[in-house]
Amino acid sequence: MPTALIWLRDDLRLDDHPAFRAAFEAGYLPLPVYVHAPEEEGAWAAGAASNAWRARSLAALDGELRARGSRLTVRRGPSLAALETLAAQTQAEAVFWTRRYTPAGETCDAAVKRALRARGLRAESFDGALQVEPWNVATRGGDPYRVFTPFWKAAQAAWRARSPWHAPARWPPPPPEPDAGSLAGLGLAPRRPWDAGFWNHWVAGERGARAALRRFVEQALARYADARDRPDLAGTARLSPHLRFGEIAPWRVAAEVEAARTGANARHVDAFLRQLGWREFAYHLLHHFPHTVDRNLDPRFDAFDWAAPEAGLLEAWRHGRTGVPIVDAGMRELWHTGWMHNRVRMIVASYLCKHLRMHWLEGARWFWDTLVDADLANNTLGWQWVAGTGADAAPYFRIFNPATQAAKFDPQGEYVARWLPELAPLPVPLRFAPWTDPARLRRVAPAYPSRPLVGLAEGRQAALDAFRRLAARV
Ligand code: FAD
Repeated sequence: MPTALIWLRDDLRLDDHPAFRAAFEAGYLPLPVYVHAPEEEGAWAAGAASNAWRARSLAALDGELRARGSRLTVRRGPSLAALETLAAQTQAEAVFWTRRYTPAGETCDAAVKRALRARGLRAESFDGALQVEPWNVATRGGDPYRVFTPFWKAAQAAWRARSPWHAPARWPPPPPEPDAGSLAGLGLAPRRPWDAGFWNHWVAGERGARAALRRFVEQALARYADARDRPDLAGTARLSPHLRFGEIAPWRVAAEVEAARTGANARHVDAFLRQLGWREFAYHLLHHFPHTVDRNLDPRFDAFDWAAPEAGLLEAWRHGRTGVPIVDAGMRELWHTGWMHNRVRMIVASYLCKHLRMHWLEGARWFWDTLVDADLANNTLGWQWVAGTGADAAPYFRIFNPATQAAKFDPQGEYVARWLPELAPLPVPLRFAPWTDPARLRRVAPAYPSRPLVGLAEGRQAALDAFRRLAARV
């Protein structure tokens, strides 16, 4: 049996894996390999939380492979050299992989494909991360979409149902090769285990992904459209790190949710599929506008009067010490679990970009380092959307009031109390704006900031003024 290397990156699963499937169907012996090459990701090499996740996900994948009689081979980059050497050592004839859409990933993969083919190897990439690849939908004029709703209409029309593929229960043993390499040797897991708390909330790997999907379908789908904005409830799927690392195929998620559709839950199913659609949209934008990872999609904002980054303010925001409880609760949830509820992501991002007037990249980079689901497409879209600088963005002058948002989406203040237990003794309205009763705040939580870093009305006004100055200039 000739060998095919299966080069794994952000597709850490066995089922519904088009590259594995193609290898089996073509009669190859698949040799799964992970090459650690962070330098090839450029400025957006994975952050600490994603690396911690990746370490566990790779270990889970190796376990699944070993249970089937195979195993994961691990190498250090550069990718091309590692693949060429391994191909020579195992007499592999082919290298298959799942396509990536990040700017650095696309460049790297194209060069690797050319070089491997020039060496006479069969090098092929597969469509395994999205429902609709970025070039498969376009406006009537042939341009990329910049607005979600028309994109979503076109994307739904282009979605093709894919039949599930179950990886074989027994795999042929891998070809003899010098050394399987060591996952631990890659240094992915943090040296200081600051991530220990994450694993009370998450199980990385394909089994964890399937369990999360099952839990969502059984327990939360029936009220998703109503509960998805409530950080105090377990109302969402919590699938983002699993999708980020390709531990489950998006079409499998969509199919299982669709299969649970009933007359009663149709609007919840539709609302959920639409969120998966935002992920597709984010990748569409990333592929067509790769510069947006660090530049405004809307160039008018290049002249915007961002405040100079101030270490003290940024530190307070990062570590949940702004004095605005919903913001601080979100930042602490992020630090302790590697994840933050979507509504709260919007609130903390808005406070940073509007009230503190910090450039969205300051926030995007912190999220990049601390989110287990840090995803260049979704993170870029999310930050540019909130900042008002991106595609289909909320207008800059729409400025979230964090206290009002908290009252609306965390009505009993339970989310705030969960992450800021020092404020739990306060009655509900005060949990959202404790500075309005400074004496009580001092009594209950003397260490909590007595007032917000930047007051809500004052910050809003300064942001609006900056926006007006920009509008007058461009
Ligand atoms: P659900 O509500 O259960 O949604 C299911 C899936 O749909 C998600 O797992 C995700 O893959 C996708 N999805 C949902 N909402 C969005 C969205 N707004 N944009 C794109 N895809 C979406 N998501 C990431 O995966 N990685 C990021 O780095 C990231 N950064 C963000 C930064 C900001 C400032 C904002 C506002 C949002 C960001 N998001 C990011 C989007 C969103 O917050 C998360 O996808 C969501 O909270 C994940 O939780 P869930 O799986 O329970 O979501």
